[in-house]
Amino acid sequence: MSELVVENLTLSFGGIKAINDVSFSVEPGEIYAIIGPNGAGKSTIFNAVSRIYTPDAGTIRFRGEDLLARKPDQVVDLGLARTFQNIELFENATVLDNLLVGRSSKVRTSWLAEWFFSPEVRREEYAHRRKVEEILDLLDMQAHRHELVRDLPYGARKNVELARALCAEPKMLLLDEPASGLNPEETTDMSFWLKDIKEELGVTVVMVEHDMNLVGRLADRCMALGNGEVMAVGTVAEVQANAEVLTAYLGAPAA
Ligand code: ADP
Ligand code: MG
Repeated sequence: MSELVVENLTLSFGGIKAINDVSFSVEPGEIYAIIGPNGAGKSTIFNAVSRIYTPDAGTIRFRGEDLLARKPDQVVDLGLARTFQNIELFENATVLDNLLVGRSSKVRTSWLAEWFFSPEVRREEYAHRRKVEEILDLLDMQAHRHELVRDLPYGARKNVELARALCAEPKMLLLDEPASGLNPEETTDMSFWLKDIKEELGVTVVMVEHDMNLVGRLADRCMALGNGEVMAVGTVAEVQANAEVLTAYLGAPAA
């Protein structure tokens, strides 16, 4: 069964179709890239899948569940986590605290148990800390653990957002431009981490990304969007060779 199946998704803002009849599916364990010019509708797809927006038409199924019947927090519980094109973190909290917030979907004990700080609560607290430490190690972020997010350079903040999404122990990650604003060295680090996330954690990744070098290195498959519609789906090489995609990126071919 496909991990994510999007069918005939349409969403308009004030009469303008941001996405129009978009269908695609993502297989378990793959890195799936969505490319396309600014305004193509890439972030709108993520916002629909993560249930921030409700589409006008179409269906979204994640691991067989109908996502349109769910609220955003329930989507996280099902195993779908995301990052945003513009980083969204608690600026005045430490890295560690931001990551512990990322665990909130995993809190299972009752308020009564927390009130009395039962052994069960202590065990759970310990499990949360251990998971957060694991993620800090994976993304090489131990040095920043007690720093306030607002004091971190841009690249490190992007990592905190990725780490926070991972702390929810997702089965699928939606990453909106994970490499935008990163320098070449940080981009290389990001590509290794995304590979680890796929191979070591077994997380399926859907990423919107403009850096075609990164997409070429990482993506198993790729979908090109233009004006809210699917132009091509295939391997990165296939999509890059597609005539419609070439025209959208490079302008009309010479007569
Ligand atoms: P991309 O991520 O591919 O750059 P978006 O999905 O952000 O594109 O936007 C697709 C289209 O929808 C654009 O024309 C954009 O202006 C419009 N759009 C996106 N979000 C909103 C919104 N909240 N209100 C009005 N228009 C929006
Ligand atoms: Mg966008």
